[in-house]
Amino acid sequence: MSSPTTTEDLNPFHITAQQFDRAAAYMPQLKRGLIDYLKRPHRSVIVEFPIEMADGTVQTFTGYRVLHNMVRGPGKGGIRYHPNVNLDEVRALASWMTWKCAVIDVPFGGAKGGVAFNPKEHSEADIRKITRRYISELGDLIGPYTDIPAPDVYTDARTMAWIFDTYSMMHPGRNNLGVVTGKPLDIGGSHGRDEATARGCLYCAERALVRGVVSGRDGVDGARVAIQGFGNAGAHAATLFHEAGAHIIAVSDSQGGILNERGIDLAAVAAYKAKTGTVLGAANARNISNADLLALECDILIPAALENQIRGDNAAAVRARLICEAANGPTTPTADRILQDKDIPVLPDILANSGGVCVSYFEWVQNNENEQWDLQEVNHKLRTKMERAADAVIGKQTEINRSGHTNGPIDLRTAALIVAIDRVAEVALKRGIWP
Ligand code: NAD
Repeated sequence: MSSPTTTEDLNPFHITAQQFDRAAAYMPQLKRGLIDYLKRPHRSVIVEFPIEMADGTVQTFTGYRVLHNMVRGPGKGGIRYHPNVNLDEVRALASWMTWKCAVIDVPFGGAKGGVAFNPKEHSEADIRKITRRYISELGDLIGPYTDIPAPDVYTDARTMAWIFDTYSMMHPGRNNLGVVTGKPLDIGGSHGRDEATARGCLYCAERALVRGVVSGRDGVDGARVAIQGFGNAGAHAATLFHEAGAHIIAVSDSQGGILNERGIDLAAVAAYKAKTGTVLGAANARNISNADLLALECDILIPAALENQIRGDNAAAVRARLICEAANGPTTPTADRILQDKDIPVLPDILANSGGVCVSYFEWVQNNENEQWDLQEVNHKLRTKMERAADAVIGKQTEINRSGHTNGPIDLRTAALIVAIDRVAEVALKRGIWP
């Protein structure tokens, strides 16, 4: 991955503020006090805790949990294990969760958490200990009706099982399944949750294309797709877009990418990555860098890794016809402006990857009702929610751009934020400021 060379402010929390301000400029009804309240996280917690590692040494870890807003319901948001996790990143991710839950219209607020360490350097036993201690330090700051974690970068169903188990040890004798989503199927997980983020991206892209967001292309069938990141979101997106008729021409991970203009053999690449830990060097494809991947000429570019990948210094090189953000925060505000000028629509994270939290909500409902829905039911409900959300966002963009607003035309990110902020503000005003 090329390192950023711009002077752009890449602090994700500052970026959320810039995005918010851009949307608020189109919302004169929002009073200053409400704007200030909605921008700030409700609660930010830092925990520092020691772990005795397998080799007998003691290491101290830093964990975070931020609850951004809960006027529409309990906090909801993933837990990330990555060496770069820091408070401002978690605050940004928590605020995007607030807007995402509002856009997809599930009754949750926004939250996020993480522990700053590299799970690739630790054994499963160490990661289990770190997880259990982190969750026990958070204590009753999380709970089925207050703040509900889920998977994010380098956490998965196995991690969620440990979270559930730890919380259950602390709260015996009651149904605790709803404390965390993304659990294994046999521990209250939902069918379809694993691939929900990617499936939501597919449904969102399909809807946007049918609605004419890219001229001359009304579907995914035959589209040439490049995907950055080959984890939960990226690898499932590759499979699902391929099943929908797309050609996956390039994929990448933290070590680099591969390209085959005629289409990548996904099963072979997944097997190769399972063996070697990377897609780099897989057979029948040419090695490329992550920077090369972002600049490929293609129909759909899916960033599915981390924040700040498409920036002021590389956005001009993007040659995709549509960007579909499976990752959170992959595009900076400067890049947004460049892409808008280049007429490249971006299906923004708070819309495009909301399928994950949508099926997390379905999982939580099933847990509370002691039910298990079948996969078809989950996917059908997911498609309905994604299409409604995409329609609301595209409709808002059309409405504002047709009005000839004095602030100029808006992109889809700003439209999505306007929809979301409006929904959260509406509930905040109805509930009133306590006391
Ligand atoms: P993951 O840990 O399963 O996969 C992350 C992938 O990104 C891996 O393939 C990793 O190699 C790759 N990666 C890491 N650093 C990279 C770099 N510098 N350049 C290129 N690739 C790199 O994580 P995930 O759950 O798939 O999350 C990916 C993105 O999707 C994150 O932004 C996350 O917040 C977002 N997201 C995930 C979910 C979910 O349900 N898992 C939901 C919504 C959004």
